[in-house]
Amino acid sequence: MGGDAMTIYLDNNATTALAAEVRDAMMPHLFGEFANPSSPHSAGMAARRAVSEAKAQVAALIGAKPADLVMTGSATEATHAAILGALRVIEETDHRRDHIVTTAVEHPATLALFGDLRQRGWRVTILPVNRDGLPSLVDLAAVVTEATALVSMMWANNETGVLMPVEGASAIAHAHGALFHSDAVQAAGRVPVDCGIADYLTLSAHKMHGPKGVGALYVRKGVPFHALIHGHQERRRRGGTENVPGIVGFGAAASLASLWLDEADLIAFLRDRLEQGILARWPGAVVNGAGAARLPNTSNIRFADGRGHPLDAEELLMRLDRADIAVSMGAACSSGGNEPSHVLTAMGLSGEQAAASLRFSLSRYTTAAEVDAVLSELPALHARLVAA
Ligand code: PLP
Repeated sequence: MGGDAMTIYLDNNATTALAAEVRDAMMPHLFGEFANPSSPHSAGMAARRAVSEAKAQVAALIGAKPADLVMTGSATEATHAAILGALRVIEETDHRRDHIVTTAVEHPATLALFGDLRQRGWRVTILPVNRDGLPSLVDLAAVVTEATALVSMMWANNETGVLMPVEGASAIAHAHGALFHSDAVQAAGRVPVDCGIADYLTLSAHKMHGPKGVGALYVRKGVPFHALIHGHQERRRRGGTENVPGIVGFGAAASLASLWLDEADLIAFLRDRLEQGILARWPGAVVNGAGAARLPNTSNIRFADGRGHPLDAEELLMRLDRADIAVSMGAACSSGGNEPSHVLTAMGLSGEQAAASLRFSLSRYTTAAEVDAVLSELPALHARLVAA
């Protein structure tokens, strides 16, 4: 299911289709119920109630209290608010802590921010990952000290679906008095995410069939936080008139996601059928990150030509697109550029191998018929591209 009903949309880690239930929940707030939640009149109070109810729905997805959530304009903003907000307080209160840690496979929202923080004087450690995309907790334990302010590790990788060792990472950070942030954008709604292990968690509505332009940050009660955007809204934690339709949509999407978590096995079944089907039809194809536990919906596959050399996956992507099958080369934001995926190269793939890889990401709306339609295209594509 995609923008075009004919398209087989397998790019759900880039963004997802708005669920009909979410659209229906948002509609009254797009037309008619337009009041500002800060207004004192009844319409304003109704808007305020709608925002509170939606926050309770999002909080329920991660086992949080609604008061622990700060609604934002994106996950990127939430990550910035968490990390900059924490470090601002630590800078002022604990001068010994000048060190921050993340991994080489984070989303650019985190990695670019760490690059900026390095320029501003923070000591930065970027943990490497192994062939399956996993950082080592032994490596982490070796670098985290009493001088470490914060560790940020994503819950699941957007390109490979690899589930990161967040529980262990959080324990190591906390053992040294450091804070722990996790970007749970790809994990939330796809696997159980419990806010209990983190001090800060980043979420995004548009990866779970909600609207774009709405994120949320979980901030554990009592941890350091300083607003990135000032104003009286969100209990002074994020200024700006609330995006009421967007927040209501996020709430509805989170409620659906909670229900759909029970159906993760079905998505995994379809993903495995697609993955096994591709491997059977394309000699030399390999799953990137196959040795790690992964999200149920994601498969990142490296394709080979007839001699076992890396194939130019962009050509395959374009031919799939012509067959109305939407997939992606790594992250949506990096495809279109010529840079090889930083995630795949961090996993030890050469630039050529990274450029030979495509990401297939399914959703609750993906059907067995769609998976079979993709598989039926492959033999002809293989013949054309490998013979060419
Ligand atoms: N983090 C991860 C892991 C993502 O996959 C994405 C989206 O691509 C983001 C953060 C950014 O989310 P948003 O578009 O809400 O800023």
